[in-house]
Formats: sequence, structure tokens, C-alpha cells
Amino acid sequence: MRPTNITANKTCAILSITWNDSRVVDYPFYQLAAACRCATCNDERARLAAEGKAFVPKSAVLEAIEPIGSYGISILWKDGCRYGIYTWDSLAVMEVK
Ligand SMILES: [Zn+2]
Repeated sequence: MRPTNITANKTCAILSITWNDSRVVDYPFYQLAAACRCATCNDERARLAAEGKAFVPKSAVLEAIEPIGSYGISILWKDGCRYGIYTWDSLAVMEVK
């Protein structure tokens, strides 16, 4: 699965991806930030899970989106995590709430 179009709506805090099967999926910024799989967020997630707590991202305010090769994007959250890589594969299967 590959995107044919990506638009970020900062007002609605939604990242809209049009996939090459014509499916359009709206990803809430908060859900994307909460799904960050970088080492820092993974460590924090594991630490909180051990205490029985849910992971809460530091920020879900979009600052920038950068392409990562041809397989995904990096999303930089303002005053939050800057290391998350979101592959097309992981986004295509992400259940949006
Ligand atoms: Zn992260």
C-alpha cells in the first residue's frame, strides 16, 4: 500500500492519507503521536505499562512531516517527540478511532 496524497489539517488535527486503492483514511494527530515507536517513546511506554498506566504523548501538535525514503514519513511534534518513523505498512494497518 502506498499513499497517492497526504494532507495535514492542523485545525482539525487530522492527517488524511489517500491510499493507492482509493481508500481515504483520517488519522487523528493524537493517535499518531501515541503510536510513536521510537526508542524514547517505547521506553516510556514500557515504564508506564509496568506501573499499569497508559502512554500519553508529550505533544500531538504537528510541526513538520518529512519523507523517509520511499517507505514512510517522519512526523515532528512541536515540543514533543521528533524521532517517530511511520511506515506506509504501519499506517495502512493502523485502526483509526
Ligand atoms: Zn517517539
